[in-house]
Amino acid sequence: MVALSDLERRKSHAVRVGDVLIGGQAPVVVQSMTNTDTADVSATVAQTLELAETGSEIVRITVNTKEAADAVPRIREQLWLKGCNVPLVGDFHYHGHLFLSQYPDCARALAKLRINPGNVGFGAKRDKQFEMMIDAALQHEKPVRIGVNWGSLDQALAAEMMDANGKLATPKSADEVLREALVVSALASAEQAEKQGLGVDKIVISAKVSRVQDLVVVYRELARRSSYALHLGLTEAGLGAKGIVATTAALAILLQEGIGDTIRASLTPRPGEARTQEVIVCQELLQSMGLRSFAPQVTACPGCGRTTSTVFQELAESIQSNLREKMPIWRERYPGVETLNVAVMGCIVNGPGESKHADIGISLPGTGEAPAAPVFIDGEKAVTLRGPNIAEDFHGLVETYIEKRFGSEQPAA
Ligand code: SF4
Repeated sequence: MVALSDLERRKSHAVRVGDVLIGGQAPVVVQSMTNTDTADVSATVAQTLELAETGSEIVRITVNTKEAADAVPRIREQLWLKGCNVPLVGDFHYHGHLFLSQYPDCARALAKLRINPGNVGFGAKRDKQFEMMIDAALQHEKPVRIGVNWGSLDQALAAEMMDANGKLATPKSADEVLREALVVSALASAEQAEKQGLGVDKIVISAKVSRVQDLVVVYRELARRSSYALHLGLTEAGLGAKGIVATTAALAILLQEGIGDTIRASLTPRPGEARTQEVIVCQELLQSMGLRSFAPQVTACPGCGRTTSTVFQELAESIQSNLREKMPIWRERYPGVETLNVAVMGCIVNGPGESKHADIGISLPGTGEAPAAPVFIDGEKAVTLRGPNIAEDFHGLVETYIEKRFGSEQPAA
């Protein structure tokens, strides 16, 4: 098995965002973004709480209007009153320089400012307005993320680089030039911020694109040319399986190369789908790669013709959701419970073997097998469950195991 220590992390500057550290040798941080109207304080507080309880370590909110800027301190206050310290990041476009100067309480309430160099202003105003935003960060001692985006790339820079490319004897493709423009835009803006006095320990950069191969090329370049902390994310990843797979494919390649200090999955929720899905995807990605542990893992077989009932699917699903739902409480009560492995298997072919590898596992009876479900604990067969309440009985055994192994009254080793 490849150990976590075998993956060499790129050396980056550590940036403190509220109580959370991004970069340096800190674990890769999971973050998310609300999709409520920020001016709607109660809706934004509720969704931020939901995201934080699911495990988002930083939550970004858009600050797109005066009403939103005015609401930010109240959102912060209400979160504190509810015992939630999750750092809030303000996402600014177009009018950020004005909001930050007109609403100083907004700037104070935020733990980080996100600035998009492609959207701070145009023509002669661009540099001035960028400068005003960095001034606000300096005045309030806040870190910034300089977040460049494919969809809002600095058009003047892109046009200039395209012109220069057109004059070359062997011009590069338009895609190559635009990828380079993203990297140049992010690094030049970060350098401009540094010249204004912002320390490298106050700068995170990102350059998001929506295609996997482009993202990999762009971030390898950012990693090669700088030591700023990097925020990874595939922008506009999309809906459902497509968004999850594309995000995972892109981020996994980079994380495996030690690139990336904080991640976000930009998934489009289906109508009615919880926003928390993007947090779970990030956690599952990091946990699958062995980079961090967030919640107990359930190993379940895919099922086949040997198991025609849905019993094991239902059990695997209920165990997985039960473990996740209880994590906010268990994280405090049972330190280390996030490393637990539970197996739920469909028949005798791989069931006992896989269950023995887990901390606790059950091998359900396949079609035609005797109606008995052996349970293995720490590699040994502990009990065989029978009858109509196998699922409930197994839930009980899992909870007893957790209490015994991770509870405060566990015997000293
Ligand atoms: S463990 Fe049994 S039911 Fe599950 S996939 Fe393998 S053979 Fe099929």
